[in-house]
Amino acid sequence: MTRYVIIGSGAAGISAIEGIRSRDGKGEIHLITDDPFGYYSRPGLAYLLTGEVNEATLYPFSKETFKRLEFRLHRTQIDRIDPQQHKIINREGKELRYDQLLIATGSTAVELTIPGHQLSGVMKLDNLTDVKNILKRARRGHSAVVIGGGITALEILEGLVAKGMKVHYFVRGDRYWSNVLDEIESRIVEHRLKEDGIKIHYFTEAEEILGRKGKVVGVRTKQGQVIPCDLIGVAIGVHPRIEVAKNSDLTVERGLVVDDYLHTSQPDIYAAGDVAQVYDPLTGKSILDTLWGPARAQGYVAGLNMAGYQKKFVKPPAFNVTRLAGLTTTIIGAVGAGRDEDVVGIARGDSESWRQTPDAVVAQNNFEVNRLRLLVGWRTLLGAVIMGDQSASFPLQEIIQLQLDISSIRDRLLTPGAPLVKLVTEFWKETLNAGAQ
Ligand SMILES: Cc1cc2nc3c(=O)[nH]c(=O)nc-3n(C[C@H](O)[C@H](O)[C@H](O)COP(=O)(O)OP(=O)(O)OC[C@H]3O[C@@H](n4cnc5c(N)ncnc54)[C@H](O)[C@@H]3O)c2cc1C
Repeated sequence: MTRYVIIGSGAAGISAIEGIRSRDGKGEIHLITDDPFGYYSRPGLAYLLTGEVNEATLYPFSKETFKRLEFRLHRTQIDRIDPQQHKIINREGKELRYDQLLIATGSTAVELTIPGHQLSGVMKLDNLTDVKNILKRARRGHSAVVIGGGITALEILEGLVAKGMKVHYFVRGDRYWSNVLDEIESRIVEHRLKEDGIKIHYFTEAEEILGRKGKVVGVRTKQGQVIPCDLIGVAIGVHPRIEVAKNSDLTVERGLVVDDYLHTSQPDIYAAGDVAQVYDPLTGKSILDTLWGPARAQGYVAGLNMAGYQKKFVKPPAFNVTRLAGLTTTIIGAVGAGRDEDVVGIARGDSESWRQTPDAVVAQNNFEVNRLRLLVGWRTLLGAVIMGDQSASFPLQEIIQLQLDISSIRDRLLTPGAPLVKLVTEFWKETLNAGAQ
């Protein structure tokens, strides 16, 4: 009987169990986690913070499902792997033997390093414990400062506003999330934040966090301003949790390097999810993809391969439906223009493939809240940002992921004022119908 060991109870780890069980009903599965709350929806944390959902909603699987998957849960932190002996070793030196191992240790928030960063009241949004801490600390009428970019900064901002706090937002450059959004999209988001009473400080960086009796009382900016506050929310990016891999003689670059089968540089050891650095056929580079969907997809493929199957993981273009300042937004494929100066490392819920500068022309329409931006390549669509009305979202996902040849509508898409939603949905329906015949 094969003994499977999985380090990490996130999206990738649980999917791997599903993958293994689809091939092997008998093997022994051990799931190891250092998160006291086990498996829950991390994208759902933002909604728990705003009070839109309760904690129970974050747990997508019933007890019965877990029972059916038949695995043993161990709550401990793994320190290293001995690939020669096929053993993992925890912080206390306890060992567990494996036949097949998956590293699905995810990623974690980058911490501030400026003076005062250890004061009580400096908070991040990374896991369920963090949400509980923020909720304990947030007080109606008190002030908060949020530092950072990407989706997580907005989630913290919205959570603090929902708790009735007066919120300041520090943006290092001249606009929000400039590496993924274009200027109009940034301004739409900023406008909505301002409507919620958030004060945005552009070209502003924190230099020191000020404290009294171990608690945050304010922040001094590099520009010389002092803003009194009781809480500081930090969202300056994430980095993969590669410590275990580094201690274990595995090939590590920015993430844990894997081949097309999600296999690492050591026999019988796989990696999946935020920690894995996977090949991206669109750019020809090996990249990090810190999104829920890819973590689930990779985990499943890794599970199949651990159970003896030989399945390649082919990375599709990045796809994410999220909420930016209350506005439903879908981001597909390559849409951005490089590094975001607000974010150190990679942004939570982000994808590096969004930031590859696309060799494309932009077609866009609607400058109000419903906005569609397409990145049009020579024969294919490379990416899309869909804000508000989501009716083109699914057709665009398929057109971009299947790399459909859009030559027949390219000129019309690029005509100023073209009805983009109509053009892409009709093209998608016609192509599907033609394929079905
Ligand atoms: C607030 C927030 C909002 C998000 N929003 C979105 C979104 O809108 N869309 C989207 O696509 N993605 C979003 N994400 C990102 C998404 O949640 C991640 O991409 C996904 O969770 C990655 O899954 P994973 O299994 O690779 O890692 P994780 O979910 O990070 O799980 C890793 C697991 O490994 C455990 N672990 C790590 N090291 C060790 C060790 N040494 N020993 C034992 N256990 C260990 C951890 O405790 C954890 O259980 C969001 C994330 C957060 C935090």
